[in-house]
Amino acid sequence: MTVTAEVLAIGDELVHGGLLDTNSKRIAAELEAIGLVVRRFTVTSDDPSALREVLAEATARADVVVATGGLGPTLDDRTRDVVADLLGVEQLLHEPSWERIQQWLRQRGRPVPDSNRRQAMLPQGAVPLDNPVGTAPGFRVRIGRAHLFALPGVPREMERLLQDQVLPAVAELPELTPVAQHWLRVLGPSEAALGERIEPFMVPGRNPAVGITASGGLLTVRIVATAATRADARSFCLATAAELRPLLGEWVFAEGTTELPEAVAERFALGRKTLAFAESCTGGALAARLVDVPGVSAVFQGGVVAYSNAAKQALLGVPEALLAAHGAVSEPVAAAMAAGARERFAADVAVATTGIAGPDGGSAEKPVGTVCFGLARADATVAWTVRIPDLGRTFVRDRAVFEVWRALLREALDGRG
Ligand code: ATP
Repeated sequence: MTVTAEVLAIGDELVHGGLLDTNSKRIAAELEAIGLVVRRFTVTSDDPSALREVLAEATARADVVVATGGLGPTLDDRTRDVVADLLGVEQLLHEPSWERIQQWLRQRGRPVPDSNRRQAMLPQGAVPLDNPVGTAPGFRVRIGRAHLFALPGVPREMERLLQDQVLPAVAELPELTPVAQHWLRVLGPSEAALGERIEPFMVPGRNPAVGITASGGLLTVRIVATAATRADARSFCLATAAELRPLLGEWVFAEGTTELPEAVAERFALGRKTLAFAESCTGGALAARLVDVPGVSAVFQGGVVAYSNAAKQALLGVPEALLAAHGAVSEPVAAAMAAGARERFAADVAVATTGIAGPDGGSAEKPVGTVCFGLARADATVAWTVRIPDLGRTFVRDRAVFEVWRALLREALDGRG
């Protein structure tokens, strides 16, 4: 049976333009992954009448409503008040939560203002959702047919309560048809070419359903199965994945939610190869992203941001004559930067980026978006150029970063990296 959900983000700063609502995106993705159909996001201020209206509407429409924000200790944190009002019930002090809040603050050497008691007040009938990473507990309560989950706004706290308490509770709802997903991460073909290859699997109504999504230059084949039990759904997914793998061959670079940098780090670690970067137009973005990967110290030697010509000479040993003859954005300079980084960091493989991110600096020969890449390994140093569409500095930089992960993954897959 379809179980519908809505997500509410509550807070003045969200509607005044000061803060982007990222909580709803996370919550929706997780609810969808366990089989709910998310129908609507609403972002609202703390204003009680607006909040009341939004909560009343959402809980009248959806089976599950997950709200974040407005659980703080101050009077403008209204979620508890409005829910109590909507239900026509009192708020009661939940002693264990109040104990926990006091303990949390004392352990951190902070005073315990009486206003924090508000955070331990719960609408009568609500069940507290213990918050081990902050002060405000969340709560769950039934409003009409809807299951409402109210979580703190702080993303770290929201995430913890979502994972530990909301998703397990929602997954147990008897109305929910068990669902499982499996993703094949694909690099290489166009979306159309991929679609053609797996067309027989993409027929509407098939269970498991097979679909393609594209994001950030990557394609994902999503397999979604429903069954009488979660375990059955899981094994249906895996059976379809096993049928698809031979069709996709080496296009599949990972399974599950693995991103490109993680896949690159994993392949380099398996091959016991090390990596370094010489970055100009990517400005350290490659290094910053790679160090997000846990355990990458076995692979990543280091990187330099060599933006000026002087830095390219001093830090990477790019000859002045090469810069003068070809310009900083050129394949010979990209190759020299990569070779310089490889030698200086004593890495097995080094990659360099040098490009024109715009809006100025383009020419007829080298328009904005021209990015040169160098890749140095023991047996050779190669360079290539990509003309990235001039859709702004961030776009050019992001695409250049993507191109490097793509090249490094190919390098590792070909067994050279
Ligand atoms: P706490 O008592 O822990 O402050 P709260 O429920 O009162 O929890 P808010 O005061 O609404 O939470 O938000 C706290 C902070 O969390 C905000 O200042 C903001 O930085 C972040 N935050 C809140 N809502 C969102 C959201 N929807 N998306 C991203 N960040 C958010």
